[in-house]
Amino acid sequence: MLLAHHPEALAALRRPTPQSPLRILSSGCLAGLPCGVEGTDYGLGEVLRALYALESVRVFTACPEDFGMGTPRSMPDLHGGDGHGLLDGRARVLDEHGVDLSEKMLRGAHAMLATAREHDVELAVLTDMSAACGTQVISLGCRYDQPRRFQVGVGVAAALLLRAGYLVVSQRDHRTIGRLRALCDPRFVRDESAVDHHETEWYRAQFPG
Ligand code: SF4
Repeated sequence: MLLAHHPEALAALRRPTPQSPLRILSSGCLAGLPCGVEGTDYGLGEVLRALYALESVRVFTACPEDFGMGTPRSMPDLHGGDGHGLLDGRARVLDEHGVDLSEKMLRGAHAMLATAREHDVELAVLTDMSAACGTQVISLGCRYDQPRRFQVGVGVAAALLLRAGYLVVSQRDHRTIGRLRALCDPRFVRDESAVDHHETEWYRAQFPG
């Protein structure tokens, strides 16, 4: 299982062209779909617009939570572990009312994996902090609890994609996203100071050591 922000991970990707674009699976909200819990894209549709607009990129979208629970919906969060924990039967997904959404989250994750397989995607770019799509950090228990707590881990769909062998990267992995864009657009000048999420001050303060 290889997170795409690993220094070696993108080395396996080919250089795409407009004739043979890189096939990316994207969280729906990252592609601007109004599939968030309240029916918005959380304002994320702009974040990767330049990458997704390249002729050398083809984006396929999926929202595992929308597939499992519909939109709008209550807020799912992982309890007792991360997405791998749920796949292994150790963790559960509950909403803010304590309703167990684990089975619906699993169904949504499998639907996202089916989309990845149907289009033979080469990489997944997912929304961090989500109980489905999180790839670096997710909430530890209900995110509405104060203070909100976090855990290092991945969401349910991200875990399933990783176990199926897909590269997974967060939209917050700015260094890796920059490398990906440079791979797809040779004219793109990378920001050499960009860092991935686990290299940020926020992450280091949350998870010292
Ligand atoms: S489940 Fe994933 S795609 Fe759907 S709204 Fe949440 S982060 Fe976005």
